[in-house]
Amino acid sequence: MNVPICDLCMKSKVLCSGCSEKVKRGKISELDVKISRLLYKMKDRYNLENIDFTKAVDLGRVVLVLTKKDVGPLIGREGKVVSDISQTVGKKVRIAEIGGDIKKTISDVVAPVKILGINKVYRKDGNLYKVRFSRKEIKQLPVDINSLEKALKSLLESEVMIVFE
Ligand SMILES: [Zn+2]
Repeated sequence: MNVPICDLCMKSKVLCSGCSEKVKRGKISELDVKISRLLYKMKDRYNLENIDFTKAVDLGRVVLVLTKKDVGPLIGREGKVVSDISQTVGKKVRIAEIGGDIKKTISDVVAPVKILGINKVYRKDGNLYKVRFSRKEIKQLPVDINSLEKALKSLLESEVMIVFE
């Protein structure tokens, strides 16, 4: 299991000095700790031995759970894993894969809404990604546009412009 906190902290109720220092400095959040411990508890029941949980991003109504591996095990059979996470954090949860194809990551975040296109725009003061959606699908977005923009910025580590057409 690869989670933001160490093995010891995953199993216990208190944080070691190393992990609590990371929380203090904002490198990991309370939410990361909560979800890591939950996943550890669920590990045997749901076969989570090989999962990666990189970090969680709180978007208000929705929490994004980011993984560098396949999203499948974190969703679980019939969505059991994701619904347990959702119950624990008290919000809707979305699992998204990061570190690979940008389009795939954004698709995970906005599903069932489809991406019309992503363009990299080169500018003097830094590049940005223009992510295009259909205006007809605005209402189906799982998060509001501001939160989506924030999420995409942190996922892509770049400025993002969201366009509806
Ligand atoms: Zn620790």
